[in-house]
Amino acid sequence: MIQNKLLMIPGPVEMTPQVYAALDAPIVSHVAPEFIEIFGQALERLRVVFRVTKGQVFILAGSGTLAMDSAAANLVESGDRVAVISTGYFGDRMAEIYARYNAVVEIISENPGTIPSLEKVEAILKKGCKLLSVTQVDTSTGVLANVRELAKLGKEYGTLVVVDGVCSIAGEELPMDEWGVDLAFTASQKALAAPPGLALLAVGSRAIETFKKRKSKVFNYYADWSNWLPVMEAYEARRSAYFGTPAVQLVTALNASLGEILSEGMENRLKRHIKLACACRAAMEALRLGQIPTHPDQRAHTMSAPRYPAGINGNEFLQRVAQMGVQLAGGLHPVIRTEYFRIGHMGKIGIGEILTTVAAIETALSSCLPSFTPGVGVEAALKAYSS
Ligand code: PMP
Repeated sequence: MIQNKLLMIPGPVEMTPQVYAALDAPIVSHVAPEFIEIFGQALERLRVVFRVTKGQVFILAGSGTLAMDSAAANLVESGDRVAVISTGYFGDRMAEIYARYNAVVEIISENPGTIPSLEKVEAILKKGCKLLSVTQVDTSTGVLANVRELAKLGKEYGTLVVVDGVCSIAGEELPMDEWGVDLAFTASQKALAAPPGLALLAVGSRAIETFKKRKSKVFNYYADWSNWLPVMEAYEARRSAYFGTPAVQLVTALNASLGEILSEGMENRLKRHIKLACACRAAMEALRLGQIPTHPDQRAHTMSAPRYPAGINGNEFLQRVAQMGVQLAGGLHPVIRTEYFRIGHMGKIGIGEILTTVAAIETALSSCLPSFTPGVGVEAALKAYSS
């Protein structure tokens, strides 16, 4: 019996032996010189990943939801108007968080699998908004948002642009400075291929200024940047500082993964994600499985969300795939949850993992649907990858 399944869910993802080894390093003090160096290096490396030079990068102990909370708690004051483009479950969550801090939230959304037009977004921005928020890849639908155009629009209307990059950063293009994104965040367990447990934010200078000009106190004590900003600045300058004990082991593992990411090079990494996504898509097409994102240009490169073929019981299918040693995820969007499944293809993986996954999907399909003939998916994936 296979014990360890190949983890092909949209986070957490597979990690390299070097990252496991970093987790296993002896624990040190959070103010020991060797840890200060690791923390400082991780912050600098994150600047390369986020492509941000000014402002401040934060590494906080917590999951991606803390990063969402931190962005909202520090940028929003009661009564601020906030526009949230929602392409699924996580866009809706972000809207809920802004509302928790008493923002007046306008949700801009369409049917699951589609993204609102720029005209629709502009009509809202014309009314005057402090902040425009978008999820680059909503993990519940696999929809990839056009952040570059949205950030341009945000700038035209003097609106801060916040990007949830939890399912995209280090797997999709997001050059913050170049595109004029004011704040982007992610979590350690996705395309950064580190263990879960760290919330990572890159806050550009315009967002820092907005925070510094606040009239009211930040309601959330733990997330308040007044507490964390001096700590992050200190570590980056290789000095010790304390507000809350950093997750020493997780930061060490993150830094190891960031080291590998930078050796691969961000450009190569993004190209690899595109190639693997194309291979996975070609396989799903050959298997005649539809995709949740309706427009081909709006499909993520970090994950796929294929529809089940007619006559399939989703739970049974996923169990059969798991019996083949591959872990996939079920649907997450509440309206269409039972209609599709999700494949994560981000982080360290290569074509070998994609082929193993496609083979497991084909085998499971043929055992659930006797009329189905396996083989075409693997062939299509290989062909797309080699072209
Ligand atoms: N945003 C997106 C796009 C996500 O995919 C996730 C996690 N799947 C989150 C936010 C929340 O992250 P976490 O589960 O680490 O709290």
